Amino acid sequence: MTPTTRSQQSKNSFYVTTSIAYANAKPHVGYAMELFQADTLARYYRSQGNDVFFLTGTDEHGQKLFEVAKKANTAPQEYVDKLSQEFIDLTKLLNLSNDKFVRTTDANHKQAAQKLWQACQDDIYKGNYKGLYCVGHENFIKESELQDGVCPDHKTKPQELELESYFFALSKYTKKLESLIESDTLRIVPQKRRNEILEFLRCGLEDISISRPKSQLEWGVEVPNDPEHVMYVWFDALSNYISAIGYLEEPTKFEKYWPADVHVVGKDIIRFHCLLWPAMLLSAGLKIPESVFAHGFITSNGQKMSKTLGNVIDPVDYVESYGVDALRYYLLRYIPSNNDGDFSLDRFEEVYNADLANNLGNLVSRVSAMLVKYNEGKYVIITPKTELDISGLVAEFRFDKCLEQIFARLDSLNVAIDTNKPWELAKTSPAKALEFLSAMAGELTQVANALAPFLPATSQKILAVFDNGNIAPAKEVLFPRID
Ligand SMILES: [Zn+2]
Repeated sequence: MTPTTRSQQSKNSFYVTTSIAYANAKPHVGYAMELFQADTLARYYRSQGNDVFFLTGTDEHGQKLFEVAKKANTAPQEYVDKLSQEFIDLTKLLNLSNDKFVRTTDANHKQAAQKLWQACQDDIYKGNYKGLYCVGHENFIKESELQDGVCPDHKTKPQELELESYFFALSKYTKKLESLIESDTLRIVPQKRRNEILEFLRCGLEDISISRPKSQLEWGVEVPNDPEHVMYVWFDALSNYISAIGYLEEPTKFEKYWPADVHVVGKDIIRFHCLLWPAMLLSAGLKIPESVFAHGFITSNGQKMSKTLGNVIDPVDYVESYGVDALRYYLLRYIPSNNDGDFSLDRFEEVYNADLANNLGNLVSRVSAMLVKYNEGKYVIITPKTELDISGLVAEFRFDKCLEQIFARLDSLNVAIDTNKPWELAKTSPAKALEFLSAMAGELTQVANALAPFLPATSQKILAVFDNGNIAPAKEVLFPRID
C-alpha cells in the first residue's frame, strides 16, 4: 500500500483533526499524545508548503455535563465556558499550532449540525428505541455486555427504557463501507484497526439511534423541526469536523479543506469515525475523509491509570517540570505510534538524560563551543551529503520511527566527534578542524529542521545557535540533566 498524501495530489491543502475532548474532566496524557501527533502532522505539512488547517476543540453537550453543572449550581453554558477555557489554555501550554478551536455549543456549530441532519433526511426515520440504559455510559448497553447483571465499567445495574427516537439507517451502508475500506479509499491506520473494522462490518451494521427526547437529554442540539428531540452525542460531535471549516456558510473555505486528510483519534472510538461518520457523509452527499489514524492507550508503570491506584499521569505536571518538548518527545517516540505503550517517571527521566540532555543537547553545546573557541564562532556553511528524509514515515503516521531515524543520525554525529577529535585537530591542523566542525554545524542544522514538527521550540533554539555561519551561543542549556 502506497500512502498518498495531499502533497502528492493536485490540492495543496492538508486538513488534520483531533477528536474533540469531552469537557467534563481534566485532559489526560493520552489526549496530550493525540494533540501532539496531530500538531506534528500540521507542522510537517506546513513545512512542505501545504495549506494546513489543524482543528481541535471540545465536545460540550450531553447529560453527564448537564448533571455536573447542576450539582455545581451553575448554568450549563457557564459551566462549559469555564471548562473549554481550560482546554484552550492547554493548547497554549502544549505549544499547539491549531488554526481553530471548535466548541459544540457555538451557534455556528449547532446550525451546521442541523444542516447536516437535514442533508441526511432520507436516511433518518422515527421509531421506538427499547433497551437497557446505563446512566454512566449515557447510552444503551447490550445484554451481552453486562457482567453479573451490571455494567462492567460503571458497576451499576442498567435501567430498562423505551423511548421515541430518530434512527439513522446505518445498516444500508454496510456493503458500501466495506468496499471503501477494502480499497483504502478510506484508509485506516494501523492495519490492526483496519482489520478490526472490516471484521465488524462482516457481521453487518445495525441502524443507530441518533436522538433523545428532551425529557431524557436536555443539553444538546435540537433536532430540526422537532424541538422535543435533541441530537444524541455522536451526530452532534462528529459534525464538528465540517462545522469548523465553514460547512454552514463558507463554501469556498469548505471546498478548500474538505475532505479531511486525517482524523487522529483513540482506538476506542474508531467505529464512530470509520463507520458512522463516513455513512453520514455519504448520506449527505459529501466526500468521506481520506484516512483515520488510531493511536493506542497509555499505561502507567504497566498498569491501567486510575484514581484509585493513584498512578494517573498529569501532562501539565510534566510540562511544568521538564518543558513541553521533553513530554512531546517521550509521547511521540516511546509510545509506539501503532500500538499501546507505557509511561513511567523512571523511563521518562532515563530517556530525557540519554537522548535529550546528552545525545542532542550536549552535542549542540560542544560543537558550538568549539567553533567559538577555535574560530571566533565563524564557520563555513556546508550542506550535508545525506538527506534526512522522513516523508514516508510521516505519511504512515510513524512518529516513533521518524524520531528514531533522526536520533540515529545524532548517534552517528557523536561517534564522528569522538573519532575525529576536533580538539586535537585544532592544534595540529586548524583548517581541518574548522572544516570538520563546519560540517557538524551543517548536520545539526539539518537535524534541527527535521525536528521542527516534533520539538518546535527546541528546533528554533538550535537554529538560533547555528545562525548562518555565525555561532550565537545559547543563553541556557537545552535540556539540563536530571540527577
Ligand atoms: Zn456503563
